[in-house]
Amino acid sequence: MDKLENSATQQGAILLLSGPSGCGKSSLLKNLFQNIDHYYFSISTTTRSPRVGEEDGVDYFFVSKEEFKKQIEKKQFLEWAEVHGNYYGTSILPINEALEKNKLVIFDIDVQGFEQVKDRLGDITTSVFITTPTLDELEKRLVNRKTDTQQIIEKRIKNAKEEIEYIDQYDYILINDDLEIASSKLLALASIAKLKTSLIDKERFLHSWMKF
Ligand code: 5GP
Repeated sequence: MDKLENSATQQGAILLLSGPSGCGKSSLLKNLFQNIDHYYFSISTTTRSPRVGEEDGVDYFFVSKEEFKKQIEKKQFLEWAEVHGNYYGTSILPINEALEKNKLVIFDIDVQGFEQVKDRLGDITTSVFITTPTLDELEKRLVNRKTDTQQIIEKRIKNAKEEIEYIDQYDYILINDDLEIASSKLLALASIAKLKTSLIDKERFLHSWMKF
């Protein structure tokens, strides 16, 4: 994929979170959203079926495989990937709009999506890999949340073992052992993410800094 150039007006930043299903990303994000402003949470498009309590346009945009493929052909995704047998993708348009408004754009995407975003918008991205302290703990949480069948849980565990291999590619690792402690660490990382500016921003800054 082509690298997306930041326009001179684009000053937002990206906080990209990945981590196996069941590591507690949703709870951490809920806490984060209560404590930050001027952010945009990227709502992904997916072909997976909604879980109980999930709403279209709030948790995901739920579409058919045909519709998803159409959007790939029209190059509407910043990134997309097949995860656990379903397609997931991030639409470019709302991301660009949020970045132009200088917002902190937050992604919850898998490791394949992370690699694509890093390639295209790496200069404004801060990445965090979230995980449970152990694989055992992950399995316990997946079983306890009672949203998936045993077969799906096994698929997610298998995927988790593959995803953890990418842990060293991320800027930060967040072990979600205690939710309160992990939440305050994520809040700190969100502040750090906002401080990461693109090269073009720096050039513009230097230009005005030298003038006075
Ligand atoms: P879940 O089905 O549990 O909601 O999500 C499964 C996995 O898909 C998670 O690892 C999540 O981070 C990832 N995911 C969700 N949205 C996207 C997306 O837009 N792109 C990519 N690449 N992964 C996504």
